[in-house]
Amino acid sequence: MEAFRILITGGAGFIGSAVIRYLVENTSHVVANLDKLTYAGNLDSVAAVSSSDQYRFYQVDVCDCAALDKVFAEFQPDAVMHLAAESHVDRSIDGPADFIETNIVGTYTLLEATRSYWQGLPTERKAAFRFHHISTDEVYGDLHGTDDLFTETTPYAPSSPYSASKASSDHLVRAWQRTYGLPTLVTNCSNNYGPYHFPEKLIPHMILNALAGKPLPVYGDGNQIRDWLYVEDHARALVKVVTEGEVGETYNIGGHNEKRNIEVVRTLCSLLEELAADQKPAGVARYEDLITFVKDRPGHDVRYAIDASKIERELGWKPEETFETGLRKTVAWYLNNREWWQRVLNGDYQLGRLGEKA
Ligand code: NAD
Repeated sequence: MEAFRILITGGAGFIGSAVIRYLVENTSHVVANLDKLTYAGNLDSVAAVSSSDQYRFYQVDVCDCAALDKVFAEFQPDAVMHLAAESHVDRSIDGPADFIETNIVGTYTLLEATRSYWQGLPTERKAAFRFHHISTDEVYGDLHGTDDLFTETTPYAPSSPYSASKASSDHLVRAWQRTYGLPTLVTNCSNNYGPYHFPEKLIPHMILNALAGKPLPVYGDGNQIRDWLYVEDHARALVKVVTEGEVGETYNIGGHNEKRNIEVVRTLCSLLEELAADQKPAGVARYEDLITFVKDRPGHDVRYAIDASKIERELGWKPEETFETGLRKTVAWYLNNREWWQRVLNGDYQLGRLGEKA
């Protein structure tokens, strides 16, 4: 396949960094990582590929129109993969402003910068150009029946400031395709997990608390159901969509792994019993004894589950990991990569950021 130049926003985050590592390690595509480096951005996550000729970095805010224009003019992308976002639901409840700014205004600003660049491209490059917006299944709200699945035509019904801001950005992207003909694609994915996941998210939070002998806080009764996908499977799916997907289409991406939160935490505890029995903190008999139930978050969605048959049928993508194999790999990764998460926990991952430019 011909090598593309792909501009990736949010490439210092959890999923964006997995996409970048995948592209540099497995393809000849050239990538530019455009990231503001908020608390969630961590260049350690792309350290394995950052010296490659296929990689460059721009410390830029997606809300900064002039800086975006400059990056487009300099990098001359064939495609944009837009992952930059504020992504943590709890933070969106405590302070929605950044979510409105980055997820809605930032997407609008990026769409406009992309449109202005795309309109100036020669005919052939213009036709081949792609804008891929990466979104979440949380835009669909939640499911209460046991058999229902989110499909690409499920009506939007977001519950949290996070999911409402992502829903807004999806609408903007589709409107830019309908109104201006910008060649866009949208993907909506279920919960991801895997290596390099910021420790505030459920799975790494539980692993690191367990290793520190701290309580494992489970919201409500722990019966909320999430559909889990290993992040490297998501990265492969995203690359398939941007290179082979049909313009104007939406693809749902999921792992067919519906699990109750409490089940996820118990499985993590048993994997830790097996893989880290010798690292148990003093006074802890079983990792599972650390589980504590805490007051549920407001508006907590009950169940998410994705019907990913369209991407499988049309683009031939399927997850390679089951929940069991993916979770085992994830626990082993956190046990073997203490330096990565210790630098996050002690704040060192943010050192030397100012002035760190492409
Ligand atoms: P993340 O929070 O780990 O990373 C987000 C990245 O965006 C960070 O590197 C951050 O520095 C950057 N960023 C934030 N604001 C920015 C701004 N104004 N300008 C430039 N960069 C900025 O998020 P993630 O989990 O990797 O998610 C990536 C995308 O995938 C998001 O759009 C999210 O909505 C979507 N998504 C995530 C999941 C999941 O389970 N994590 C599932 C489905 C979809």
